[in-house]
Amino acid sequence: MGNGIDEWIASKEEMLKTWRRELHQIAEVGFCEYETTYYIVQQLAELGFTLHTGQAVMEGDARFGVPSADELAAHEQRARDNGVPADFLAGMSGGFTGVVAVLDTGKAGKHTAMRFDIDALPILEEADAVHLPAKEGFRSRNEGMMHACGHDGHATIGLGIAHFIAERKEELKGTYTLIFQPAEEGSRGANAVVKKGWLDGVDQFLSGHLGIRPNPVGTLYSGSTHILATTKIDASFTGKTAHAGMEPHVGKNALLAASSAVLNLHSIAPHGEGATRLNVGRFEAGSGRNIVPGDAFLQFETRGITTEQNHYMKEEAVRRLEGAALMYDVAIDYAIVGEGLAAETDAYFLEKIPKATASSHYITDVHDRMEVNGSEDVTYMMQHVQEQGGLACYMIFGTPLAAGHHHKRFDWDEGALAVAVSALAHILAHE
Ligand SMILES: [Zn+2]
Ligand SMILES: [Zn+2]
Repeated sequence: MGNGIDEWIASKEEMLKTWRRELHQIAEVGFCEYETTYYIVQQLAELGFTLHTGQAVMEGDARFGVPSADELAAHEQRARDNGVPADFLAGMSGGFTGVVAVLDTGKAGKHTAMRFDIDALPILEEADAVHLPAKEGFRSRNEGMMHACGHDGHATIGLGIAHFIAERKEELKGTYTLIFQPAEEGSRGANAVVKKGWLDGVDQFLSGHLGIRPNPVGTLYSGSTHILATTKIDASFTGKTAHAGMEPHVGKNALLAASSAVLNLHSIAPHGEGATRLNVGRFEAGSGRNIVPGDAFLQFETRGITTEQNHYMKEEAVRRLEGAALMYDVAIDYAIVGEGLAAETDAYFLEKIPKATASSHYITDVHDRMEVNGSEDVTYMMQHVQEQGGLACYMIFGTPLAAGHHHKRFDWDEGALAVAVSALAHILAHE
C-alpha cells in the first residue's frame, strides 16, 4: 500500500474545504461545542466507526474550568435554536461535548490513536473583508466565538483521515481511535479524556497543530519540543467593605492584597535549570471610589519547560497568594482551572515520518522538531501513552498565517489541510 494516497486526497480537497468552512461558521468555546459535535457525528455516521459521545467521552470530574451551569444552559439553548436535535443535545448536557470514533479492522496490528481538538475562542471575529472568512462568507455565525487557533482545521483533518481509514479498511491492520477533543484552549479537556481510559493500551499516538509560526504550505515538522507545562489559576480575595472616610480601619482591603500578590507573583525567581513563565492576565476589584474594596479577582498562569519547573512556579505562586492574603487579613480562595504537562515527540517519529511521507507530493519540506514555547493539553495523552511504553508524536503542519494565533484576523491557507491528511495517511500506510 502507499500508492494512490495523494490521488485519493486530491479527490477530497473540495470536501476538506467545505468541512473547514462549515465548522468555522459554528465556532464554539470549550465544553460548549454542541453544534460542532453534532456536525462531526453527522460526517462520521456512515463510515463504520463506533461513535462514543456524551459522558462516554470524558470523566466529568477530571475536566478543568467547566463553565457555570447558567453558561452551559445558554449555550445548549443556542445549539437547540441552531438546529441540534433535542435528544442528541440531551446526551451532551452539562458540557459533555466531543466524539471518540473507534474502528477495529479485525486484523492484528497496532492500536493507533489520533487527537483533533475542536474548540474555538471567545473572540469577536473580524468582519472587515480584509479577513478572508468575512470576505468569502464563512465568518463565525456564533458572534463572539471564533476559530482563531485553527481547530476548525484540526477537526477537518480528523474527518479526512476518518474517511481514509474507512475507505482503506481492507488494507489496514489494527485498531484506530480518533479523538475529537473538547476544550483544548486553557488546557481543560484532555485530562478528562485520558481519565476515561481512551488512551489505555495505545501503541502509537499521533497529533499536531496547524501554523504556530508562519511556514509555506507543504512544510511538515515531524515533531515538537519545548511544549511548556502550564497551570491556569483563578484566585479570589475576599475582605470587607467599609466607608472609606468614616471607618477605613474597619475594612479589609482585598484590592491591596491582590495588588501585592500581582507584583510578588511577577517577582518569582526564574528557575536556573530551564525556562519558566508567569502572567497575570486579568485583575478585577472593588465597587466604587469611596468604598474600601472588599473583593478582588485574578486570573493568571504559570509555565515551565518541564513539568517540574512548572510545579516550582505553581508552588511559589500559591505561597504568594496566601502570603498576600495574610498580610491584609483577607480570605483567599483559588482554583486550578486548566493544566498541561511538558512532553516530547519520540525520536522514532523523527526517523519514520520523513521516510513515510517521501512519496507525497503534498509534502515538500520535512523538518525535525519545532520549538513550540506554548502549552497544549495533548501532553496528558502523550505522557499517558509513553508511560505505557507506546510512542507519541506532535507534528506541525505548515501554513502562512494572516495574523497570530488568537487574533481576530487569524487565518491560514486551506492547502495545509491536504498536507496534514497526506502526512497522517502516509504514516498509517507505512506500517
Ligand atoms: Zn490556541
Ligand atoms: Zn490551538
